[in-house]
Amino acid sequence: MSEERFKKELADYLDSLEEEEKASGQLYEERLSVCKQCDYLNAGMCKACGCYVEMRAAMKARICPYGKW
Ligand code: SF4
Repeated sequence: MSEERFKKELADYLDSLEEEEKASGQLYEERLSVCKQCDYLNAGMCKACGCYVEMRAAMKARICPYGKW
């Protein structure tokens, strides 16, 4: 997937979430900073769960499969 297309899909996904489902901006950034340090991250995708971390981290109820956040 091109970066441009990914950004569009990410924006659409974030827009589709109910406000109460979303992680706060601070929580979102904290989660992503953990992912950026993680060996499982590869080109924006978590090799442990197979999802794009920017989408996973945006949902309040989601967790890291390895308990890092
Ligand atoms: S979700 Fe967890 S295991 Fe996956 S990249 Fe982020 S910190 Fe690593």
